[in-house]
Amino acid sequence: MRVAVVGAGPSGIYAAEHLAADYKVEVDVYDCLPVPFGLVRYGVAPDHYSIRSVRDKLSETFENPLVRFRGNVTIGRDISVEELQKHYDAIVFTYGASLDRALGIPGEDHPMSIAATSFVRWYTGHPDANDFGEMLSHASDVAVIGLGNVAVDVTRILVKPVSELEQTDIPQHVLDALSRSSVRRVHVVGRRGPEHATFTTKELKELGEISGVDVIVDPKDLPDHFTQVTESKIVARNLDVMAQWAKREAHADKSIQFHFYSAPKSMDLDHGVLSVDAMTRDSDGRLVASGIVKEIPSKMVIRSIGYRGEGLPGVPFDEESNVIPSTDSAVVGLPNSYVAGWIKRGPSGIIGTNKKDAVSCINTLVTRSSESSATSKQEIDQLLADRNIDIVDFAGWKKIDAHEKDLGKSRGRERTTVHGREELLRIGLGR
Ligand SMILES: Cc1cc2nc3c(=O)[nH]c(=O)nc-3n(C[C@H](O)[C@H](O)[C@H](O)COP(=O)(O)OP(=O)(O)OC[C@H]3O[C@@H](n4cnc5c(N)ncnc54)[C@H](O)[C@@H]3O)c2cc1C
Repeated sequence: MRVAVVGAGPSGIYAAEHLAADYKVEVDVYDCLPVPFGLVRYGVAPDHYSIRSVRDKLSETFENPLVRFRGNVTIGRDISVEELQKHYDAIVFTYGASLDRALGIPGEDHPMSIAATSFVRWYTGHPDANDFGEMLSHASDVAVIGLGNVAVDVTRILVKPVSELEQTDIPQHVLDALSRSSVRRVHVVGRRGPEHATFTTKELKELGEISGVDVIVDPKDLPDHFTQVTESKIVARNLDVMAQWAKREAHADKSIQFHFYSAPKSMDLDHGVLSVDAMTRDSDGRLVASGIVKEIPSKMVIRSIGYRGEGLPGVPFDEESNVIPSTDSAVVGLPNSYVAGWIKRGPSGIIGTNKKDAVSCINTLVTRSSESSATSKQEIDQLLADRNIDIVDFAGWKKIDAHEKDLGKSRGRERTTVHGREELLRIGLGR
């Protein structure tokens, strides 16, 4: 049996691992990028070393001769899903959720208002990222909208001393831009209260540990008795962290200020203002606008209100939930097709969540499989060669890996991420 996996993020690699190691199935793992690992490389923050190093564990899967990495191949453009179906016995879709969401408020389309998805791509060195270095040199106050871990990552990268980021694999041009950054104050803005934030405590706490940065929380935003508002241990711990911050005096050069119960209403970034509705509770306990509008100084706004998936030509797609519809991981309405990871469940869950998901997906696939009718590897390779698609394989990734380590060493760093697509291709293809 031969299986095509679409997307070399954690879900795709875990799926390939289970197919090859446990069922001895041949697997081709396609990715539109010349490098594998998905959001482990282009999502997880550079200063989260141990989480980023999951990359090394994931790469072991490609050491199995049954598994091939086929980088720089965009499914739906370079080759269609229909064609994949002809060449493989089954397809597993694991292509993630990479689009951003809009707030739908006036002023949002200003060039200084950007999505966290784009900003994260920039600081992790994604080949298709825009460059935000220049913007940061003009923005003393930045508002980050959203109360989740991505908002926390973005906030930390904005104010963390560059000396502390030097030890990471952050691309050199990003490090240089951050050293020229004018950002002094980050305003973390959310419609709801601290007990509804989805931060994890470890990530939240890190904000209070950045040298030279105060964290400002208004004690009035915190509930009097944590145990009365939550049974969740995480929320109670978060409230405890924020209660400590609320007692601190602010005197540092830089600050992170939380603005809870503040629903973004409009932005006038030419004049450096984000307007928010101050929220209050009605008699039924629902959050409603109080009628009071507050102005938060912001030269730049980063919207961190979630990722969403997109459809792939020839594959059923649920436009409401932005996922591929499935039952027991089998795609509804497309034979021999399966789905795992963020494009199946939506953008939630940590890297490990995708392992369990991928394993259950592959168990369904194997149970339903019949006699193989796949073509040979050579046929699909020839088809792509005829279309002049340059495939970066695992040996190509190893060259990129070695190059990034050498580049890092030359600057006293462990690794420096290479960000340009052309350069990645040049190294990966040995040109
Ligand atoms: C900013 C951010 C920070 C995070 N930090 C952490 C963290 O610290 N710890 C943690 O445990 N989890 C973290 N996560 C969550 C974790 O990254 C995800 O759970 C996980 O990456 C989802 O895996 P996936 O394989 O479903 O999708 P992805 O990782 O997105 O992989 C999808 C892959 O599909 C490829 N692809 C897309 N379209 C196509 C196409 N048409 N053809 C071919 N290939 C395609 C993409 O290039 C990508 O490589 C973070 C997520 C984000 C967004």
